[in-house]
Amino acid sequence: MACPIPLAYSKKEDIMKVKIKDVKSGLGLNKEEEEYFNNILNINEDEEIELDELLDETNDMEDTALADSMTNSYTSELLKWYGEDLHRVEYMTEAITELGANDGFSALSGGQYLYHRERINEAQHKIITYLEELLDQVATCLECGEEYLDERDIQLCDKCVNKFDLDKLFNDHDSKKIDALDFNEQKNIREQYRK
Ligand SMILES: [Zn+2]
Repeated sequence: MACPIPLAYSKKEDIMKVKIKDVKSGLGLNKEEEEYFNNILNINEDEEIELDELLDETNDMEDTALADSMTNSYTSELLKWYGEDLHRVEYMTEAITELGANDGFSALSGGQYLYHRERINEAQHKIITYLEELLDQVATCLECGEEYLDERDIQLCDKCVNKFDLDKLFNDHDSKKIDALDFNEQKNIREQYRK
């Protein structure tokens, strides 16, 4: 699956690293989702971080503790929050059935807690899917052995791809003489396309 790559890499060793703000823009978050993102990954926007470290951090995030910290502790604030969207009352029902809330305040705060926990899980899932897609695109160039972000089916970095006759390759591909897998997996086939 094609994934938008908003990341500009200048150095080879940067390939496995991302800036938090690039992940954010790559995810295309709405305002509410962005608030959850900021709470899940409480990291400076400009900070550069290893992709797999970021993935671990997102996976390890405690949704219950975070949802708890986002829940209002005053009845007045809770009522205001419910007033913003009447559908949220459904979460009070869930607080009664799922959490066993048995008084008014517990139903109000439990409902908001469940709402946040659900949104957190959604945001978490979205971030994880995105990072896994990015990690999937890190490939090793068959020619020079360097890691690069794979945006094409043939497994060659931007530099090495120019050593091959791509017009011929694409023509053969279109006439079904070869597919990308043959090219990647068989050195003798690859050599037929070397310039
Ligand atoms: Zn290469």
